[in-house]
Amino acid sequence: MKVILLGPPGAGKGTQAARVADELGVTRAASGDLFRENLRNETELGLLAKSYMDKGALVPDDVTIRLVMSWISAPEQDGGFVLDGFPRTLPQAEALDGALGPDGGLDRVLYVNVPEDELVRRLAGRFICRNCQTPYHQITSPPKTEGKCDECDGELYQRDDDKAEVVMNRLKVYFDETEPLVGHYRSSGVLREIDGEGTVEAVGDLLVEALQ
Ligand code: AMP
Repeated sequence: MKVILLGPPGAGKGTQAARVADELGVTRAASGDLFRENLRNETELGLLAKSYMDKGALVPDDVTIRLVMSWISAPEQDGGFVLDGFPRTLPQAEALDGALGPDGGLDRVLYVNVPEDELVRRLAGRFICRNCQTPYHQITSPPKTEGKCDECDGELYQRDDDKAEVVMNRLKVYFDETEPLVGHYRSSGVLREIDGEGTVEAVGDLLVEALQ
């Protein structure tokens, strides 16, 4: 199965992608993680992406499409995948449709919807494991030991682009550029809308149900 998680930053896509991928027994990736990995390795692509990420802007389509298409076409993804954070623009969605072809199209686009004031609250308190990318929230889902990941003992940090001034720009970019994709996928019949306001467990259950 080929599944996309669509929704605003802070909707919980990263947390839920793991559950959905486990449920389906497929691989998963987040385009943001692919960029951050390039940045950690100081590749040319990573350094280019940083200048956009720091402002909360989107990395240009041509660069993003090349990066994600190369992940999708790797043999590990032959059995299907869960992709989080891509596509984020109409040209990206069209490139994906074209790459998957008429017989290999997406099976589901899971649209996780959360009101804007709740997104700001979630992003402002978010901390991520530097090692395995597991997200935590200082109030709603704190780690057992402060500053340490429950899963791998890695160090937790706040992403530069989760700071308040950048968050507002990321949300604006989402509503301008990415939300229109809801209409694109609704018309193709693969979209399922999920209320992302519940607990991690409850939202995960709704997502798994929407795969049926
Ligand atoms: P995320 O971790 O999904 O919030 O992504 C972090 C940042 O990476 C975004 O604010 C963008 O700068 C960049 N990025 C991730 N995915 C995409 C995409 N599909 N298109 C363009 N830029 C992206």
